Amino acid sequence: MNWKEIITECRDVQSADEVNLICGDQLNENHSWYADGPNPGRLYLLMEIRSETDYARHHIQKVVAFFGAMRLFAKRLKDLGHRVHYIALDDEENQQSFAANVSFVLNRSGALRFSWQQPDEYRLDEALNSLAADCEKKGVDTECADTEHFYTRRMDLAEFFKGKKTYRLENFYRSMRAKHHILMDTEGNPEGGQWNFDANNRQKLPKDHVIPPPKLYHRDVTFLQNLVHTAGVDTVGNLDLEGWGWPLTREEGLNLLEYFVDVLLPHFGDYQDALTRQSWSVYHSRLSFVMNTKLLSPAEVNHAVELAWRSHPESVSISQAEGFIRQILGWREYMRGIYWAHMPDYATLNFFEHKRPLPDWFWTGETKMACLAHAVGQTMQHAYAHHIQRLMVTGNFALLAGIDPDEVDRWYLGVYIDALEWVEITNTRGMSQFADGGIVGSKPYTSSAQYIKKMGPYCKGCHYIPNAKIGKDACPFNALYWHFHVRNRTKLERNPRIGMAYRTWDKMAPEKQQALLETAEMNLDRIEEL
Ligand code: FAD
Ligand code: SF4
Repeated sequence: MNWKEIITECRDVQSADEVNLICGDQLNENHSWYADGPNPGRLYLLMEIRSETDYARHHIQKVVAFFGAMRLFAKRLKDLGHRVHYIALDDEENQQSFAANVSFVLNRSGALRFSWQQPDEYRLDEALNSLAADCEKKGVDTECADTEHFYTRRMDLAEFFKGKKTYRLENFYRSMRAKHHILMDTEGNPEGGQWNFDANNRQKLPKDHVIPPPKLYHRDVTFLQNLVHTAGVDTVGNLDLEGWGWPLTREEGLNLLEYFVDVLLPHFGDYQDALTRQSWSVYHSRLSFVMNTKLLSPAEVNHAVELAWRSHPESVSISQAEGFIRQILGWREYMRGIYWAHMPDYATLNFFEHKRPLPDWFWTGETKMACLAHAVGQTMQHAYAHHIQRLMVTGNFALLAGIDPDEVDRWYLGVYIDALEWVEITNTRGMSQFADGGIVGSKPYTSSAQYIKKMGPYCKGCHYIPNAKIGKDACPFNALYWHFHVRNRTKLERNPRIGMAYRTWDKMAPEKQQALLETAEMNLDRIEEL
């Protein structure tokens, strides 16, 4: 793949009537912008800019994946006959921000109209609104279009819960199922007789169970890696030695969807929460990147999964299909709605007032805690960890240890291939760190070593002893679990879902309580050496 040549034909600043901006996560070729075919007066504009590479310290695979997908999308539009101007990271004319580059192209092409699609991130929304205001002042008409990607509009969730004290996923999810007729019978009841099959899912992997390998794409992306490094962009991680793993075109995304439905979906729900060393993605779809860049739509992914269940119920049970569709129709839309209902304040919430810096080993995986070494090591190698690794291993540790949510957010926003603020911050600050005080979820997700020991193989052979609670060799999760609950008692004890933890604590002998708290303090003091 010649990544330079691919965009050589996408240099077009001849005169145009209008300039349409396409952001890196707006690669939806089915958007109505393209429906009437090529328009000689309309110029599509894509750009690789430092304001996007530098707002977090990103994984190299993430930057490469975005640039690769954008270049291939530009070529696709060009092949379809559209006019495209692509500004590469190292182009001399590149002024490295949306505002400066758009103004330059408007001036050069003489266009009197600027259009863009509604961005998913607050910071971009602000930037593009202010750019549009500048355009209007200069006599350029502006228009913002919907991305035509999500099931809901930005403020639909806020509207849905108007007047309610709390948001909860389940009510919203049921209404979405009914509204969009997904997994519903002809009488309007949920297929299978219930809305949610969570209780059937979440098993531990049986011994000797062989997981199918993740589907890889084996593209040579070293040119893009060099482009990013030569420009001096500060990244983490490396390219994957196993081969390039991420679909970068709609065709490849559809191919990954097909692989998921045929090979992985039959066990998706069963092993959704399983932790293992055998596979880095288990039965998860890895479709988040192609959906978050809009190469695939959530509706077509859900449709493929529902169809698989309807046509092959003997291999795809309702609990696998429902478990998967709930993530996309439910959680993904729910998180986006919460983001728009609560930004910009959401980004500053710190319910527990946590202030500890993130340990350096979050960037290297060099820790004696086997579960964390594996989750972080895998993240650096693949720019991916599945939900339970993110929530119950890295997120759980950060929460128990009282890490500043700003630092936790910066880490998650950088290291994952699918990390975009609207879905990263609501999962990290909300679901994982409970820094929103209960907007996303009704209680913090915390656990001692017991959960990690039950769901995966790490504790066997770990430097620390999973069943020990006190002393320097005891698993740090155990004492930190109690330390977290004791230091946040006034904020949590009235929560009916947590009361049990306090009742257990209160029954403990004072010497044991003292020893647990001292062990936790010792671990916090030596957090970099754990
Ligand atoms: P699967 O397990 O195959 O799930 C299918 C799809 O469901 C995903 O592709 C995703 O689109 C959707 N989904 C599943 N869970 C969630 C969820 N909790 N919220 C929203 N959508 C969901 N997801 C991101 O897309 N970007 C992020 O930056 C991100 N950050 C996260 C940070 C933390 C701390 C946690 C706990 C979760 C985060 N998630 C994020 C949610 C989830 O972990 C990922 O969507 C998922 O791991 C992506 O892998 P997959 O495509 O194989 O998912
Ligand atoms: Fe993780 Fe503790 Fe188990 Fe080690 S003993 S793998 S630190 S849960």
